[in-house]
Amino acid sequence: MRLKELVRKKPITIDGDSTVHDVIKLMAVENIGFLVVMEGGKMVGVLSERDIIRALADGKGLDAKVGTLCKRDIIALHEDATLEDAAKTMDQHKIRHVVVVNSDKKLVGVISVRDILAELYSPEPAED
Ligand code: AMP
Repeated sequence: MRLKELVRKKPITIDGDSTVHDVIKLMAVENIGFLVVMEGGKMVGVLSERDIIRALADGKGLDAKVGTLCKRDIIALHEDATLEDAAKTMDQHKIRHVVVVNSDKKLVGVISVRDILAELYSPEPAED
């Protein structure tokens, strides 16, 4: 299966100028643990709940800026890559999320390890 078929929803993004408090609220409301960080309308990084935990453990406050905490080396796969490619990438890099981009390197979505497990083990019931 191709990643473009696996991406189910619009990617949830946050601006680099936002704070840790904004991140926590957004993650809670959306029930997610990973955000794509945008600056000037461009994708510049990613932030997972792990980064928030690390920032707080390091003594950073709720007013710390996302742009100072996010990972800027984005690990991304093309939308035509497969579910297996995504699983391998997650295993190699010890991450639970892969960013999916199109040929223009534009953000298409995010695949989480949970999307892969759901696809493998809870396929949608066949239509009759
Ligand atoms: P995760 O296990 O995906 O929640 O993330 C663990 C760590 O890897 C965090 O520091 C994330 O910011 C980083 N990370 C996760 N996914 C990616 C990705 N696609 N590109 C770059 N860094 C990532």
